[in-house]
Amino acid sequence: MSSGFGIEWLVYGLIVGSVFAIYFSKKIRREKHSRSRKEEEFSAGLIEPPSLHPVIDPVKCLGCASCVTACPEKSILGIINGKAELIAPSHCIGHGACQAACPLDAIELVFGTERRGIDIPNVKKTFETNVPGIFIAGELGGMGLIRNAIEQGKQAMDSVVQRCKKKSSGGDILDVVIVGAGPSGFSASLAAMAEKMSFVTLEQETFGGTVAHYPRGKVVMTQPVDLPLYGKANFRETTKEKLLEFWHEVREETGLEVQYGERVVKVEPAKDHFLVQTEKNNFATRNILLTIGRRGTPRKLNVPGEDQEKVVYRLIDPEQYAGQHVLVVGGGDSALEAAVSISEVEGTTVALSYRSAAFGRAKQKNREKVEMAEQTGGLRVLLSSNVMSISENDITLDQEGQTITIENDAVIVCAGGILPTGFLKDMGIEIETKFGTA
Ligand SMILES: Cc1cc2nc3c(=O)[nH]c(=O)nc-3n(C[C@H](O)[C@H](O)[C@H](O)COP(=O)(O)OP(=O)(O)OC[C@H]3O[C@@H](n4cnc5c(N)ncnc54)[C@H](O)[C@@H]3O)c2cc1C
Repeated sequence: MSSGFGIEWLVYGLIVGSVFAIYFSKKIRREKHSRSRKEEEFSAGLIEPPSLHPVIDPVKCLGCASCVTACPEKSILGIINGKAELIAPSHCIGHGACQAACPLDAIELVFGTERRGIDIPNVKKTFETNVPGIFIAGELGGMGLIRNAIEQGKQAMDSVVQRCKKKSSGGDILDVVIVGAGPSGFSASLAAMAEKMSFVTLEQETFGGTVAHYPRGKVVMTQPVDLPLYGKANFRETTKEKLLEFWHEVREETGLEVQYGERVVKVEPAKDHFLVQTEKNNFATRNILLTIGRRGTPRKLNVPGEDQEKVVYRLIDPEQYAGQHVLVVGGGDSALEAAVSISEVEGTTVALSYRSAAFGRAKQKNREKVEMAEQTGGLRVLLSSNVMSISENDITLDQEGQTITIENDAVIVCAGGILPTGFLKDMGIEIETKFGTA
C-alpha cells in the first residue's frame, strides 16, 4: 500500500518536473532567439523605430510575454533577462497591440527616440495644418496602420467639405486635390465622391500606397472599417493580395479615378487658392489633402534611360524576373535581399552595384548570403561602381574609372527615399520633432 503511494508521488513528481523542464527549456530557447535577433539587428545598426513604438518600463514588466504574443508582426519584441524588450526596433510599425495586451500597464507608445527625432506636422483636430486649406491625414500625421489611415481620410474630407461650405467654390478651381492613393487617400477620395466635390487624386506610383509594396503574401492585420460609398469592409486578418483586390474592386465599382505617375513637387499659394504642381501638370484648388504617408519618394539615380518601364524602385516578387538579366543597385538590406532572392530564381543572372567599397550598412546575415550567392555564381557583385546609363538591352557602369557594359532586362534601384519633411516645410507647414514623446 505504502510503496504504491510512493510510486504515485514519484509519477506525479516526474510529470510536474517534466512540465517545468519543458517550460524552462522553451523559455531558455526563446531568450536565446531574442538575444541573437537583437544582436543581429543592432550590429547592422537597425536600432531606430520608424515612428510610433513601445517603450517598456523594466520595473513594472514581469516578463509574462503577453506583448510578445500580441504583436502581429512577430519577433519585434522578445524577453531578455526576464523582461520584455524591443529586439527589432526598425521593424515596428506601431500596431500598439503590445500596449493593449500588457496586464501591468508597463508599456507606453511614443514617437521618436532620444537619439533620433521624428518629425510630426502640427495638425488640428479637424486635420487642418497651420496653413488654412491644407489638411493632412493618415500616417503622415503620425498615426500608422491601415484602419487609422482610412478613418482619418474620411474625417479629414468631412472637414474639407465644411470649409468648402463656408468659402465660395465653383469655376475652374477644384474643391480639393488629394495627394496620395494609399488607404487614406483612397477613403478620402471616396468621401469626396460621396459629397459630389470637384477633386482629383494624384499618385506618384501605384494604387494602395505602402500596402502595394508589402512583400508577396504578407499577412495583413487590420480591423473592420466603413468605406464611403461602399459600407462595411470586414477584414481582420487577410493577405496583401486579397486586400488590394478588394480595394481595386471598390475603386472600379464606384468609378473612382486616380491620376497615376503624378508626383506633386510643389504647392504655391495663389489669391484665394493653391497651385499644385506635379512633374507633368498644374492644378488650381481651394484645398489640399495630403495623404502621402511617411515612406517618401524613392531616391532616383538620375542617369539617362532611367525613365524606362524596366526600372523600378522596389522588389515585389523575385519570380517575375525568371530568365532575365537583372541589375540591383544599392548597399542596404533591401538591395542585398533583393539581389539574393532574384539570384535564387531559375535562369536569372544578377549583378549588384554599390557605390561604396563594402556593404557596411547591411546585416551580417545578408552580407553572408551575398557572399554565398557570389561563390555559387548566381550573383556578380560590383563594389565601388556607379550606373552611368541604362539602355533597352544593357547597362553601362563605371567601376573605379573602368567602363563596364552588361546585358540587362530589368533594374531595381534600392537607394532609399527622400522623406516628405522638406516638402511640407516648403509649403509653410509647421513641424514638431518628437524625441520619445507619448
Ligand atoms: C512592411 C510593412 C508592413 C505593414 N503591415 C501592416 C499591417 O499588417 N496592418 C496595418 O494596419 N498596417 C500595416 N503597415 C502600416 C500601413 O501600411 C500604413 O500605416 C498605411 O499604409 C498608411 O497609409 P497612408 O494612406 O497614410 O500612406 P501610404 O500607404 O504610405 O500611401 C501614401 C501614398 O502617397 C503617395 N505619395 C507620396 N508622396 C507623393 C507625392 N509627392 N505625390 C504624389 N503621391 C505621393 C505614395 O506613392 C503612396 O502611394 C505596414 C507597414 C509596413 C512598411
